[in-house]
Amino acid sequence: MSVVVQKYGGTSVADAARIGNVARRIVATFEQGNSVCAVVSARGDTTDELLELAREITPNPPEREMDMLLSAGERISCALLAMAIHRLGYDAVSYTGSQAGIVTDTVHMKARILDIHPMRVQEAMKDGQIVLVAGFQGVSTAKDVTTLGRGGSDTTAVALAHALEAAVCEIYTDVDGVYTANPSLVAKASKLDHISYDEMLEMAASGAQVLALRSVEYARKYDIPIHVRSSFTDAEGTWVTDGGHGMDIEQQLEQPIIRAVSYTTDEAKVTLRGVPDRPGVAARVFTALAVAHVNVDTIIQNTSESGHSDISCTIPVEDIPAADKALKEIVKEIGAREYDTDADIAKISLIGAGMRSHPGVAAKMFQTLADLGINLDMIGTSPIKISCVIAKEHVDEAVRELHTVFDLDEDAVSHEPSDRGSC
Ligand code: ADP
Ligand code: ASP
Ligand code: MG
Repeated sequence: MSVVVQKYGGTSVADAARIGNVARRIVATFEQGNSVCAVVSARGDTTDELLELAREITPNPPEREMDMLLSAGERISCALLAMAIHRLGYDAVSYTGSQAGIVTDTVHMKARILDIHPMRVQEAMKDGQIVLVAGFQGVSTAKDVTTLGRGGSDTTAVALAHALEAAVCEIYTDVDGVYTANPSLVAKASKLDHISYDEMLEMAASGAQVLALRSVEYARKYDIPIHVRSSFTDAEGTWVTDGGHGMDIEQQLEQPIIRAVSYTTDEAKVTLRGVPDRPGVAARVFTALAVAHVNVDTIIQNTSESGHSDISCTIPVEDIPAADKALKEIVKEIGAREYDTDADIAKISLIGAGMRSHPGVAAKMFQTLADLGINLDMIGTSPIKISCVIAKEHVDEAVRELHTVFDLDEDAVSHEPSDRGSC
């Protein structure tokens, strides 16, 4: 019997009717002769509501207690889904992350999965039960409940797919696949049939919320194909797999230069000013941020003037309090003048493995933004991504214009070999 791992996102289980719909889908998969393990997210906006509840109590809730609170959202939907499956006459059992054997490190609210001991899941499946697992959570090596960071149910699903040796991890969501841009912002975005782990990784890292970054990292590491699809239709979705290998030169040349435009408004820019320009200073700043579990992205250091320079980096907005605490100390220690934080920024990114062999992508991106009168605050690159930090107010027009200029609009997408030799 083959094992199928499915994950249903918050919108897919938002109310009783949708839970009933998901129950029927799971039962249909079971009826096809599969063992089914379904990972479930908290219903609708439950996680946001729980965060708000905590804020009503205190501005600085202890992170251990936040995990106790937030993990409840997934437990609720998981138990309700088990009841809905029982009602259809099938045997289902729900497990918390801990009961499903998901062991994490001790970093509350963004724990990493260290190990999975899925014995209970496997035994239940052997007994013919449909297994439901509360996503986004585990138990730490210190035996406390942990959560995996926003969107973490995707990671639970991919990790379970690996542990249960499933052939594929199906991610059911409210869109029917991965698009060339967020379809709720760009009406002309088109669905991708296939995308490589590397490109998806860059998309997830730059704001395409459809898959959580860590789930893609996990899938790439263990080569687990992900099928992103809609929980409301039967349409084939987007396959996220190891795209590069096995492709011949001709196929590679046919790859579009740019695959997608992503953006995030969930990052802030931190600037340290008057930083003494001597060896080891940057290391101390970024070590302090790392110790505070702040995820740093684009980094820029300006040229030194009279022995001092400015260092800027972007960090997730949710990490601002932790960064503040760390930077207050380190600014004093290294003798920097000051630091400030600007949350009114957006980062827009172009992603595509094809840009490796096509010069001029950056120039065309910068010109497009310049034509819109948009100033570039920071620029960051990887071999398959170019990101620009701009003022938040310009993000919508910038994303739509880049989508058009790089020929991604639905009516412009062609499956013929591209003749756009230079950009
Ligand atoms: P779920 O609750 O199912 O986990 P999410 O809200 O986390 O769903 O992710 C799905 C959403 O991701 C979509 O509704 C869409 O607005 C957003 N999204 C952002 N970028 C993309 C993209 N490139 N392709 C598809 N969806 C995207
Ligand atoms: N419920 C969590 C969130 O909203 C985890 C998830 O949905 O994947 O981020
Ligand atoms: Mg999600």
